[in-house]
Order: sequence, then structure tokens, then C-alpha cells
Amino acid sequence: MTTVYEAVIGLEVHVQLDTHSKIFCACSTKFGSEPNANTCPVCLGLPGSLPVLNGQALHLAVKVGIALNCEISKRLKFDRKNYFYPDLPKAYQISQFDQPVNGAGWLLIETRSEDGSWKEKKIGIHRAHLEEDAGKLLHEGIEGASLVDFNRAGVPLLEIVSDPDLSSPEEAYAYLTSLKAILQYLEVSDCNMEEGSLRCDANVSIRKRGDKNLGTKTEIKNLNSFKNVQRAIQYEIERQTELVEGGGRVIQETRLWNDVKAQTFVMRSKEQAHDYRYFPEPDLVPLTIESAAIEAIRKELPELPAAKAARFRKDYGLGDYDASVLVQEKALAAYFEQAIKAHANAKMISNWMQSELLALLNSKKLAIQSSPVSAQALAGLVALIESGTISGKIAKDVLPVMFETGQTAQEVVREKGWVQVTDESLIETIADKIIADNSQSVQDYRAGKKQALGFLVGQMMKASQGKVNPKLANEVLARKIGV
Ligand SMILES: [Zn+2]
Repeated sequence: MTTVYEAVIGLEVHVQLDTHSKIFCACSTKFGSEPNANTCPVCLGLPGSLPVLNGQALHLAVKVGIALNCEISKRLKFDRKNYFYPDLPKAYQISQFDQPVNGAGWLLIETRSEDGSWKEKKIGIHRAHLEEDAGKLLHEGIEGASLVDFNRAGVPLLEIVSDPDLSSPEEAYAYLTSLKAILQYLEVSDCNMEEGSLRCDANVSIRKRGDKNLGTKTEIKNLNSFKNVQRAIQYEIERQTELVEGGGRVIQETRLWNDVKAQTFVMRSKEQAHDYRYFPEPDLVPLTIESAAIEAIRKELPELPAAKAARFRKDYGLGDYDASVLVQEKALAAYFEQAIKAHANAKMISNWMQSELLALLNSKKLAIQSSPVSAQALAGLVALIESGTISGKIAKDVLPVMFETGQTAQEVVREKGWVQVTDESLIETIADKIIADNSQSVQDYRAGKKQALGFLVGQMMKASQGKVNPKLANEVLARKIGV
């Protein structure tokens, strides 16, 4: 994008709230049941059936509202959003129009600046309201026909609408990561994008830099991963910029992201709110939430990612980056804290978790909760490195064995005979042999080529299969051939 224009991005995130039953009936919300197994007259929209609000859905919605610093409405109501589509049995969706459960709030995101440092930005939350999900159309199987599965119809959703405060695809990515972490900490949703429990639409517009007015926006749908949200926004910014610079005009429309073609395509011209003919849902009375109820929910909130990251920086001396990576998942943060309880070297444990352990877990597609190496076992490995029993290099061979066998670091080291050699007379014997075998390098070193020593240390490590303590090897060699 040229420097003439800037992007204005807002995100709408639909989160499926993790309740046992649907928002207005007692049907199960279980994913993967037989089509239409989880339905009843209410969620099928049969005449005469009446909705009853699921208190747990409201409870979880308020919990999210508090975590996102939202103003919680004392009085809320539901409205009918009218539109016609085959996956919507009543031809309206029960949603919230002018009195949503959660009003304005904010959340913090962290992005990397051009100079590599991390900066925080406050992103406004416009609102977060409750609504019911629609069914699902299946287009495979019967030629010329579509099938509809209403299992998802009536599943509780919280639609979280951000302010148009995001100005780059990277910020949009950071917002989603931060929001997802909060939702997972709150345990209000499994946030599984593949199963549709987290869905995201992006509103994108551009305007001349410094302009106060908003440009015409397009809404992008079909974004099935955070990476695709980032790619689609990038594409859309470029498309709009090219269009405007060529003398064209952006049209307000809904566009679909095509992952394979890596482009957005027009789906339909964008509806305005009045197209939905919202009106109050007459079958659900407006609700009042007592302040005491809100306070009781506030007490249930766990320590949230931003607060945890701040504590990790303060108590354990971690850098911004390390702290923010470790708090991204609640389980990862818990693992870290368990490990440092067993061996208090936060920096080393953080490093070993983020490099070696996560790589091993990723290779097996395992979550940290199912790590074959427990937090205590990882701490044990770090302790062996710190005490000089094994070198960091050997430790990189020890961890995969622990991962495969479930053994402790000590067991692996003992079994394989990988204990680091610190016996100086033994190191001297090896050094003598290396000096005798590499007279050229010895001469080079004596002639002033300091890097020759590094080569000789390397030869000692090789001769000892990495078991010689490199610091001692260095000292002994320097002493023996020093000038
Ligand atoms: Zn039902």
C-alpha cells in the first residue's frame, strides 16, 4: 500500500459459547451428532413454540464482557433480525439490536514495531451481543438439491464487534490472538475454528492518511483461520488502493475470501441494518441484571493473559516477547510455572520450552497438556545443564529421548553414559592427542590466529562425542599451547 492511504479495519468475531444446551431450548449443542438429531419445535421454529433464555449463555456472555472491560447493560432485550435463508427456520434470527448485553469496552494487543521492539495498542470493543446460530446447508449428495442440518440452529453465539481501530493485517492478527487467549482463559468457548466455534468477518476500508472520515468498507467473509484473516485483509487493502488510484470507487459489498486463489470475490451488495427490519422479540421479556450478579461473576474471573504476562515479567524477569508467548495459552503458562517451581531458572526453562519442547510437541501435533515430558522432568533437564553434569549440546539429545521414552533426564544420561567429562586429567589426555594430531592448527594459533583454538575445541568435542565440558576444554588447550 502506498503511503498516501491508510487502512481502517474492524473485526466481527462470532464465538460459540460453551453451554450444554442451546440458547432458547433444551437441545444439546454437541458437535458432530447425526443431522437434525439435536432439534425440537423451538429451534425448528414450529408455530406455537416459545423460546426460554438459557441462563448459562447469559452468564458466559457477561463474563466475556467483564474481561473485555465492557460496560455491562443493566437492562437488556432481544430482537428479531429478519432475513430469508433456507438455514434459518423461523425466517428471523433472535439477536440483540439496541440493548446488547455488553456495551463499549477494550482490549490490549501487542505488535512488533519496525525496529523490532514490542508496542501495545488499545483496541476498542464496540459491543458484544448474544444471538442464536443458524443451521447448516449441505450441498453434497443429491444432484440439484441441498440438505439442511438444524443441529447448529439455536446454538448460543456471542458476537464481539471491535471498533475500527485496527490499521494493519498484523494488528488484526494480534487482536484475534489476544481475544482467543482471553476466551480460552475464561473457558467460555473451545474456540475451535475448524468446527466453527470461532468465526471472523473483517470490515476493511482505506482513506487518505490523516483523513478523519471513514471510507466505504467491504465486509470479508469465509475466513477460516487467523492467517487467512491476515492474508485476506492484506489482499483487500491492495485491491481497494489499486481501485481508488485508478480513479475507481469502492462499493459497499460483502466479499468472500477464496483461500486457493488468495483473492476476495463479490458475494452480495452489503445490507444496511434497516434491511433487517429489527423489532423487539415479543416472546422474550426484557431482562434486568443486578449489580450484585455482575460482581459475583467478576469474582469468578481467572488471572487474564495480560496480567499474567506482567507478573511473569516482574516476578521472573522474563522479556516482553517470552512473557507474551508463554501466556498465550493457559496450559503453557501453567506448565512454565510448575517447571520453575521445580527448578527456579525462568529464563532457561522458558528457552527450552519455546525452542526444543514446542518443536517436539508440534512434530507430534500434541498440546502441552499431553506432553510426554512433564514440567518437573523438563526442570530436571535444566538442572543437569546448570550443574554442569551435561552440556547444553548433549541436553538437546537427551530431551528427544525423554520425549520418546518418558524417562527423566537423569535416567537417560545414566543409561546412555552422556555425563559431561569434567575430570581435568582426562581432558588433558584428550587435549594432548588433539594437539598432536593437529599441529597445523596449533601453529596457526601460536602465529596469532585466535580462531584456531575454536577449531581445536571442536575437535575435542568430537573426539569425546560432545561429553567434554567446552569451557574446560578451552582452558586446558589454551594453557597447553599458549604463547
Ligand atoms: Zn431445540
